[in-house]
Amino acid sequence: MSERAVEQKLVSEVKKRGGLCWKFVSPGIVGVPDRILLFKGGVIAFVELKDKGRKPRPIQVKRIELLKKLGFKVYVIDDKEMIGGVLDEIQST
Ligand SMILES: [Mg+2]
Repeated sequence: MSERAVEQKLVSEVKKRGGLCWKFVSPGIVGVPDRILLFKGGVIAFVELKDKGRKPRPIQVKRIELLKKLGFKVYVIDDKEMIGGVLDEIQST
């Protein structure tokens, strides 16, 4: 299962739930999460997508920890099967 396939599924699932799943790029800052998820009510979360079984690179882990320290939810998804549970959790806040 490729990162691209997981990403496509995530984008369509978020859309189905009425949210936004924008690609997240921050010029000059490498390793930021791939997607920023926005839901009604000011709900925000970040997602780092990986090929199945792959872990985030050290710089990606650093960015994830930084965002978490600021209180944001950040998820690493490497399997389509994880998507429903992650979105449920994001939306339950
Ligand atoms: Mg990625």
